Amino acid sequence: MPTFPTLKLYYEGSYVRILQMNLYDLNYRYNGLQVTGKFDILTYEVVRDFQVEHKLVPDGIVGPITWTAILNQVTYIQSKLNSINFPLGNVDGIFGAKTTMAVKNFQSANNLLVNGIVTPRTRQKLFNPNPEINYSNRPSSLSLSSLNPYVASLAERFLNLCTKNGLNVIIITAFRSWDEQDILYAQGRTAPGNIVTDAQGGDSYHNWGLAFDSAPFENGRVAWDDSAAFNEMGVLGQQIGLEWGGNWTSYAISLVDTPHFQYTFGLSTEQLLNGLKPA
Ligand SMILES: [Zn+2]
Repeated sequence: MPTFPTLKLYYEGSYVRILQMNLYDLNYRYNGLQVTGKFDILTYEVVRDFQVEHKLVPDGIVGPITWTAILNQVTYIQSKLNSINFPLGNVDGIFGAKTTMAVKNFQSANNLLVNGIVTPRTRQKLFNPNPEINYSNRPSSLSLSSLNPYVASLAERFLNLCTKNGLNVIIITAFRSWDEQDILYAQGRTAPGNIVTDAQGGDSYHNWGLAFDSAPFENGRVAWDDSAAFNEMGVLGQQIGLEWGGNWTSYAISLVDTPHFQYTFGLSTEQLLNGLKPA
């Protein structure tokens, strides 16, 4: 593979274009990233999110380590497509026209939206083609039994701990269907309203039974405005090892999500889509 130059904010040129093409076609486009050849703020934000997702230093600078991580993501897709008879020629880590065409052919053959982008549904079909295993056809549920058994046990402990501390807490969402996630993703983009998530169907831990949303319930209703109660929930949840959405850090979109708790087993949703399983 050729050596790529280090890129940062406000740089311009053909390597910036390659960077943007790769990120865009790997579906890092939730903040409206476009392939312009200009390393703008949107590019900077998705680079930082990519770095977080891949456990790299989130400095927004595309040096050798970040380049390697991005190119590896593309070669991973290219090798897979070649191996299952959607040929694209050289595996070079660059998401060019041949790779886009192979993705489109694969999407068309699998009744997926044909856009040439490695959407979560495209990725799961590539690496994890049985929908029973990856939950892509399961309905939404409020029941803790819809969660991964270990996460369900944590949720149970969390609810008990809240009760012991004088907080009455209810579950708002447990498993969320991929279709429902897509509807949330559309909000503020192709549908009216404000943006509420940067995750498409398959890209949220709710879609893998690894997350739940909860809220304080006071005087017969959900107390959305009781921020003190939400903060206390956050403290208690983290005390038993849950990750809390109140500490959310996304560089592309600022989403503080105080009802949200998750336990990820150290796996990114990209890894789940690639077929890795929680321990
Ligand atoms: Zn949530």
